[in-house]
Amino acid sequence: MNSIAENIAALQSGLPVGVTLVAVSKFHPVEALIQAYDAGQRHFGESRAAEMVEKAKSLPKDIHWHFIGHLQTNKVRQIVPYVSLIHSIDSVRLLKLVSDEACRAGRVIDVLLQAHVADEDTKTGFMPDELLQLAAGYDNAVFPGVRICGIMGMATNTDNEERIVADFKLLKKLFDHVRNTPAGADGRFSVLSMGMSHDYPMALQCGANMVRIGSMIFGERQY
Ligand SMILES: *Cc1c(COP(=O)(O)O)cnc(C)c1O
Repeated sequence: MNSIAENIAALQSGLPVGVTLVAVSKFHPVEALIQAYDAGQRHFGESRAAEMVEKAKSLPKDIHWHFIGHLQTNKVRQIVPYVSLIHSIDSVRLLKLVSDEACRAGRVIDVLLQAHVADEDTKTGFMPDELLQLAAGYDNAVFPGVRICGIMGMATNTDNEERIVADFKLLKKLFDHVRNTPAGADGRFSVLSMGMSHDYPMALQCGANMVRIGSMIFGERQY
C-alpha cells in the first residue's frame, strides 16, 4: 500500500487548478491526520462533532476543518469555535440555529447548502425545489451569522455512471441557478462541493471545485 503522503501527492497532481481537496479523515486516528498534514494537507473533513473538536484541539491551528456529516442541532454549539466550512446545512431550521450560535460566539460561519439529488432516501439535504425556494427568498439579515458559500451534494451510490453524471449535472445546474438569487448574491458564493473517492473524476468533469476524499487517502475506515 502507498503511504498517506503518496496518496495525497498523487491526487493533488491530478486535480485541476482551483480545486480544493478536502481529506475526509473521519474515523481515522490523529496519527493519520498528522501524516497528511506533514504532506501539506490543510483541509480536513469530519462527520461527527465530538471527533472533530477533539482533533481540532490536538492538531495545528492552521488546519481548515470541514464538517460534512449530518449535523444534529444539539451539536452545533460544540463545533462553532472550530469549523471553517459546514457542508451539510439541510434545513432552514439548522441554518437559523448555526447563524444564532455563530452570532452568540461572535463569528460568521461559512456554510454550504446540501442538495438532495440522489435516488436514495438515506441521503439528507434540500430537495431541488426547496433549495431554489429558499435561495429565491433568502434574506441575509435574517441569518447574519452565516455566509452561504455554495452547494454540497452526493451522487447516487451506484455503478451506473450515467446516473452519477446526471446527479452531478443537476447539482451544477442548481449551483449556477442559486448564484443568481439573493442567497448567492454576496460574492462568496463560489463552492461546488461534490465527488468522493469512487466518483470524483466524474464530479470534476461536471464542474466540482471542491472534492471530499477519504478512503483513497487513508484507506478503509474501521467503524
Ligand atoms: C465519508 C464521506 C466522504 C468520503 O468518502 P470516501 O468514499 O471515503 O472518499 C465524502 N463526503 C461525505 C459527505 C462523507 O460522509
